[in-house]
Amino acid sequence: PPCTGRYARWCERSTDKLTVSLLLDSKQENMAKFTDKIRIKVKAGHGGAGAVSYRREKYVEFGGPDGGDGGRGGNVYFTGSRRHTNLSYFLPEKLYAAQRGGTGAGRNKNGADGNDLIIKVPVGTEIIDSETGDVLADIIDDETMHLICEGGIGGKGNTFFKTSTNQTPRFSQPGEEGQGYEITLNLKLIADVGLVGLPNAGKSTLLAALTAAHPKIGDYPFTTLIPNLGVISIDGRQDIKIADIPGIIEGAHMGLGLGLSFLRHIERVKTIIYLIAIDSEDIHHTYKLLQDELRCYDEKLLAKPSIVVINKADVVDFDEHYIDQLSRTFPERPLFISAKSGYNLKVIIDKIKNLV
Ligand code: GDP
Ligand code: MG
Repeated sequence: PPCTGRYARWCERSTDKLTVSLLLDSKQENMAKFTDKIRIKVKAGHGGAGAVSYRREKYVEFGGPDGGDGGRGGNVYFTGSRRHTNLSYFLPEKLYAAQRGGTGAGRNKNGADGNDLIIKVPVGTEIIDSETGDVLADIIDDETMHLICEGGIGGKGNTFFKTSTNQTPRFSQPGEEGQGYEITLNLKLIADVGLVGLPNAGKSTLLAALTAAHPKIGDYPFTTLIPNLGVISIDGRQDIKIADIPGIIEGAHMGLGLGLSFLRHIERVKTIIYLIAIDSEDIHHTYKLLQDELRCYDEKLLAKPSIVVINKADVVDFDEHYIDQLSRTFPERPLFISAKSGYNLKVIIDKIKNLV
């Protein structure tokens, strides 16, 4: 269930308790093994069993029942983390389980509640029930705690069952089982700007020039096998996240090339920069091709604010006349830059600011 009012209150309460927070050191992220989809199992703690016990005192012959109740099993919560952009620290098919509730004991001692398990996932991760495909939670911030599996209730000890007709019950309840799921974690990057362009357009170069990110750069297609994320800090105040979305080629929406595995990351970017190399055979045709791929994947993508940027301005001699001519085929005058030489990079930062 999503984190609705009742659960939100629960979450708060559970934070004063001892909680076990899963991992996660960014060092454990293995970027070489970039993972944006993984199946794991999660299970809440089993409730502790109630105890069967009788009071024993020196001069009292029939002390009566004094078996305490079992403790509640720990819950499993999911919450977001902004430090992580990758699911590679999860082990596939592993069971992530919260602690069992303690068993009850004599002298009416109740078992301890099991510790909750809090699992952190990158902001932008959907938690999906693998069996039904239902979205159990959509992690969009790093504050809300989402209760996914409720711990089992502890069983009652035999004290609870004492009645006028049964003074010494010889039974207690076992604890209830905790909720469990097989879930699929599905990460969709959340960025302010998505760089969309054919392989070799210079997306990675631009990302590296604008931000402190160090993506792989090469002059052959598909150097970038993972979506890279960089942050531009504007006046030290506003952070703008830029994602380099690799792998768009003609037919990507049908799964050609690296196609769909990356197109899905565009779903959550707020704005789009179409990046086109000036030495492309037909700049306007390339722009149409990029738009068509997005449209075929999901029409809503074209409704996002966007700008057109022509890269590699350093390799072609061009003049105002050329720019005017080219601009006529676009809704707005495209911006000419060179990610390599740094030409117009200040201007593009301003444009990005306005766009976002
Ligand atoms: P991506 O596939 O879109 O990420 O493209 P890359 O950033 O890997 O760049 C592809 C090639 O184009 C690399 O050899 C870059 O050095 C080169 N490149 C990128 N930007 C420029 C530019 O502004 N001018 C020139 N001359 N080359 C560039
Ligand atoms: Mg690249």
